[in-house]
Amino acid sequence: MGKKTKTGKCKLCNTEGELSFEHVPPKSAFNNCKVYQQAFHDLLEGKKAKQSQLGAGAYTLCTSCNTKTGAWYQLEYGKFVEAVLQAYKNKTDANSVKFTFSGSRLKLAKAILTMFVSFGTQNFINSRRPRFKTFLLEKSNTVWPQDIGLYGAIYPKLENQRKAACLGKISNGKTFTYDEICFYPLRFVLTLDSTAPDNCLADLNYLKEGKYEEKNDIQFDLPIDKDHFGDILASLGCTLT
Ligand SMILES: [Zn+2]
Repeated sequence: MGKKTKTGKCKLCNTEGELSFEHVPPKSAFNNCKVYQQAFHDLLEGKKAKQSQLGAGAYTLCTSCNTKTGAWYQLEYGKFVEAVLQAYKNKTDANSVKFTFSGSRLKLAKAILTMFVSFGTQNFINSRRPRFKTFLLEKSNTVWPQDIGLYGAIYPKLENQRKAACLGKISNGKTFTYDEICFYPLRFVLTLDSTAPDNCLADLNYLKEGKYEEKNDIQFDLPIDKDHFGDILASLGCTLT
């Protein structure tokens, strides 16, 4: 095992200092075992996946940011993943999973955004970092960066797999700019000034309207992503433990 801290620049507050290991997704969301992780573009180039003994994640946030976002948002995300798995197990429809989660929309949205800030494609995040910083480091702040869109789906195919990709995809003359994180059992897409890049995604922008302290029954209807990328990952021999 390596040491648990490294020195560098925090991807959230931008301060140079000691970084702690940030689990993406949070450790509470079944991310505490040994995994192989690899950037999507590296996988496409056939590079070998790196093994992480700590679960998926990286030294991306300073101890202060890691502790705050963990306590404020990621615990909620862990509960959400439990609810997703339960609903997935009991699903009656082959194409989507409908369920109710009782919690805070804002906490969930911020947990997902924290994952993108710490682990997403940095070119994508960089231009928005100051706004993300204010939004995420003030726990009750509800001023969501307006040009950012949030979409999600059930991602059932590869356990313990994640990837991040920033793509500009032109489809029918439309350009989509987005970043993506997939990790069993969920897939999230963060768009920049565009709509969802494909139709196997639920619009999660209603999560932005929440408040930190609220506890509401939040309705979800998430399509099951039969996956256009999982087969590529599997064919490259990215094995998981
Ligand atoms: Zn920080």
